[in-house]
Amino acid sequence: MIARGEVWLVGAGPGDPDLLTRKAERLLNAASVVFYDALVGQGVLDLIPATVRREPVGKRSGRHSKDQATIDRLLVEAAMAGERVVRLKGGDPAIFGRATEEIEACRAEGIPIRICPGITAASAAAADLGISLTLRGLARKLTFVTAHSRNGAALDLDWSTLADPQATLAVYMGKEAAAMVSRELIAAGLPADTPVALVENASLGDGNRLVTRLDLLPIAAKAAFTDKPAMILIGQAMRLRATAALTARSRSNASPTDHKLH
Ligand code: SAH
Repeated sequence: MIARGEVWLVGAGPGDPDLLTRKAERLLNAASVVFYDALVGQGVLDLIPATVRREPVGKRSGRHSKDQATIDRLLVEAAMAGERVVRLKGGDPAIFGRATEEIEACRAEGIPIRICPGITAASAAAADLGISLTLRGLARKLTFVTAHSRNGAALDLDWSTLADPQATLAVYMGKEAAAMVSRELIAAGLPADTPVALVENASLGDGNRLVTRLDLLPIAAKAAFTDKPAMILIGQAMRLRATAALTARSRSNASPTDHKLH
């Protein structure tokens, strides 16, 4: 399935090993070496056969264990040595995954590189909430944006385009910048009561999940965020979850987030 000297960029999905594609699993079995990120779930790593070499090259904000150029070089060297290389990345490798650098590094050396997509965190977060990311007539557009800012620097984002009341905004790496995201979107005209959902460790069921309003996001974020990866979803499509939460609470006095799926 993987030729010697070939590289596959493989999506590991959001964490739950059951959300790994069958193709990804076959590639893990066919690899001779797997370079993986810190965000790849333990359950997924457990699927890598013991005979396959594992190389952590994880990057979590603040703790860069290997820089991108080093990772690019490791992939190229392994391929040139005739290995069957899998580069395993959280979610979908083509969404905020620095895939382009790796693709170009390989292509520059004439190394064949192919991609196996994965389920991205926004999809997993919506599934955990039991809602749709789009909503007929109300959320006709879905925007994936990264709010990663270096050392708290202002984000270079086009807020007036992002503040679209007809869109769902999926914010990746938005934890540190949650207060800024809230402030800038409101300043750009998005209503302060726009529903916002926050999901940590989507698909793994062991993180915070809550629904709030855009103006309250900074407070909610401070109270709820741990060091787990978190997705922030903003827009009217989240309204259904807010309504569902209220309905369920008034019926049973318990939040539906208390119910864990097995
Ligand atoms: N390629 C990945 C995204 C990498 S950027 C994908 O397609 O999902 C890393 C960011 O993704 C994290 O900061 C967080 O915002 C989000 N993320 C990744 N896994 C997540 C999870 N299980 N739950 C919530 N957010 C997650």
